[in-house]
This record gives sequence, structure tokens and C-alpha cells, in this order.
Amino acid sequence: MRIAVLGGDGFVGWPTTLHLSARGHDIHIVDNLSRRWIDAELGVQSLTPMDSIQERIRIWKEQTGRQLGFQLIDIASEYERFKIWLAEFRPEAIVHFAEQRAAPYSMKTDRHKGYTVNNNVNATHNVLNAITALKLDAHLVHLGTMGVYGYDTMGAAIPEGYLKVGVLDAEGQPAEKEILYPANPGSIYHMTKCLDQLLFQFYAKNDKLRITDLHQGIVWGTNTEETKRHPQLVNRFDYDGDYGTVLNRFLVQAAINYPLTVHGQGGQTRAFIHIQDSVRCIEIALNNPPTAGGRVQIFNQMTESHRVRDLAAIVAGMVGGEVVHLPNPRNEAEENDLVVRNEQFLRLGLEPTTLEAGLLAEIVDVARRFAHRIDRARIPCVSGWTAERSLLLDRDP
Ligand code: NAD
Repeated sequence: MRIAVLGGDGFVGWPTTLHLSARGHDIHIVDNLSRRWIDAELGVQSLTPMDSIQERIRIWKEQTGRQLGFQLIDIASEYERFKIWLAEFRPEAIVHFAEQRAAPYSMKTDRHKGYTVNNNVNATHNVLNAITALKLDAHLVHLGTMGVYGYDTMGAAIPEGYLKVGVLDAEGQPAEKEILYPANPGSIYHMTKCLDQLLFQFYAKNDKLRITDLHQGIVWGTNTEETKRHPQLVNRFDYDGDYGTVLNRFLVQAAINYPLTVHGQGGQTRAFIHIQDSVRCIEIALNNPPTAGGRVQIFNQMTESHRVRDLAAIVAGMVGGEVVHLPNPRNEAEENDLVVRNEQFLRLGLEPTTLEAGLLAEIVDVARRFAHRIDRARIPCVSGWTAERSLLLDRDP
């Protein structure tokens, strides 16, 4: 397949690009490298030493003989350039990762809120608009988030995107209707993903676009089969207070004997998936497109869920280390349950990597190996969901 990977220089995009290229697909990356600029803005860098996109592509060619394309285009603000490129490349599938993806970054200041909304909503709309204008019969696979559901699901299992509700028909008789699961975003970033869902629903209905939306959990792990082929193919690993997700924070803290910092009571339950499983799910989604437009195909892309304090205990149990509680920067319930349906991917052959099996390798091969690159001052979360919460944030435990 000819596949465009939008955001292919990012944490999930890069290993996905290599995974699909290794399976014989013709892959072109489109990326504006904004993630690298944000590193510069925040004064942080990936824990793993990351080469330029051009160098990464050169090494992949050297290792495998396979060529990857790369276009430097901002798909949110350069609609015409993007459309011209798309008209030339005419992909059979498009994987869309190209959004600002950190909830804390999206809540940092009014400027960051505006940037996240403009970037994410325009990027998604431009992709849909261009596919429609060019009459491309391309399957669009988008990386969405479990966060669109909200975390307070009152004990009910979250279905895969849709909910059956009882209604009364025109004659007043009971009937059943399928609706999108009600959106309940917890940050500006999550709100943009909820807006994406409506854009997909409209274009699938109106223009019969074939769309798969993957509601993904927090991705953990660094490397995949392909990124391990050469040190310069290594994936990025974010550990700073804005982009580092909770498990990465614990791994880095454990590697330098820094207390594991749990926000609030740590009673929040989150969904997780290993990076190797994430790229495999994207391949499965590409191989199973919706046959016709009309209805967006939605998968829950997660394999296990854990309470934050339990995760801290698992990491502390493996390497030793103290667990401390800090004020929660987020405006959220202290405790929540999370039960998620994910039968579709399991039925299509996904064999999950468990935290139990993969965690120690992350500590040894990544966190400890690159511990000399850790800047302790960058670990604490400094972006609060409200001005009052920002004031409470501790910079060092
Ligand atoms: P990332 O920030 O590492 O990668 C995103 C890539 O998109 C970057 O290379 C960035 O430069 C590029 N990009 C952003 N805006 C762009 C634009 N306007 N034009 C062109 N390129 C642009 O993020 P990631 O962790 O790889 O996440 C990828 C997708 O998966 C995101 O949409 C995110 O919401 C979703 N997701 C990620 C996780 C996770 O845990 N990482 C969990 C759930 C969902």
C-alpha cells in the first residue's frame, strides 16, 4: 500500500513508519517537526538521543534498502501545499498522528490552549477537506484517545465508540438508537480530540469517507522490533512534566533514585498499551478498513488499565524507591474505575505485551542506560489545570 504517515517523526509515528515499511509498504512521512520545536521551547530533550529525521531515514535505507519519503509541511496552516502533495502522492491510506498531544502543555497558558485548538482541529479538518476535494479513495486512520470518554464512567464498561440508547419512536413505541459515546473531555487537548470525532462523523456521513478512529490509551515503552535494529533508529522517550506520561515519569525517577511522585491520592485509573502493540494495532486497522463510508469505525486501542498509585507500587517493587504524593495539577476526581471493552483488536489477532513482562527491560535498557541525560529539574509537572492548582505545584519533592 502507498501510505502517508502524518506526524511520522513523533513518538508513535516513527515506529509505525518503520513497522509498515518493514512489511513492504511505500511510506511517506509528512511532519512540520513542531514536536522538536516544542522541546526547544520547553528546554527539554528526549531521554534517548534522537537523530534528525533525515538521518533516521538514511540509516533505515542503509539497514534495509527501503526508502522513506519525507515532506516538511504544516498540515494545519499550509492547506494548499498539503493538498498539492496529496494530489501527487495519492495514498491508499493515511495515518494521522499530526496533533499536539500533551494535556499539560495544552493547559499551560492561554497561548498554549489556542495553539492546541488551532493546530489539532485545523490539521484534522484539512486532512478531511483535502481527501474530499481530491476525491481520494484513501482509508483514514486517526489516533484518538481514551480521554474522549472521560474517566468517570460510573462503573460501566466503555464500549468501542458507540452507545445503544433507548428512545421512543414517532408512534411512542420503544426503539433503540446508536449514538457516539457522550464526549467528556478533561483538558483542552482532550477537547480537540472530541471535536475531531464530530468532524469524522460528518465527513463519513456526508462524503462517505472511510475512517477508522483509534481511541488509544497511554502508550508506554520505547522501542519496537524495528527501532532496535540500529542505535540511530531509537524512538523518542519524553519524561518532562508536560510530555512525559505517568509511567515514563516513574521509570526515570526510579532510574536516578528520585522519589516516585504520585499526583493526589493516585486513585485515578488509566488505560495503557505498549508501543509495540500500538504499531501492531495500526497495522491491523489498515488491513481492516471499513468497506464503505457512512459510519466511522472505532476501536479502543488499549490492553490493560491500572490505578496510578498501583503503578507506582509496581515500579517501586521492581527497583526499590520511595513513593511520595504531590498536589494533583489536574481538575479531576480523586478516584475512578475504568473498565474498557477492547474485543475488536483481540479478535483480529492482537497479543498484548503486559506491563509485567516489559517493564524491567524499560528500566534497564532505557531509563538506566540514559540516566546521565536526565535533567531532574524537568521532571515535575508545572502546568496546572487552573491558576489555583498551578500555584500548588511543587517543583521538587
Ligand atoms: P508526538 O507529539 O510525539 O508526535 C506528533 C507528531 O506530529 C510530531 O512529530 C509533530 O511534529 C507532528 N505534528 C504536530 N502538528 C503537526 C502539524 N500541524 N503538521 C504536521 N505535523 C504535525 O505524539 P505521539 O505521542 O506520537 O502521538 C501521536 C498521536 O497519537 C497524537 O494524535 C496523540 O493524540 C495520539 N495519542 C498518543 C498517546 C501517547 O501516549 N503518546 C496516547 C493516546 C493518543
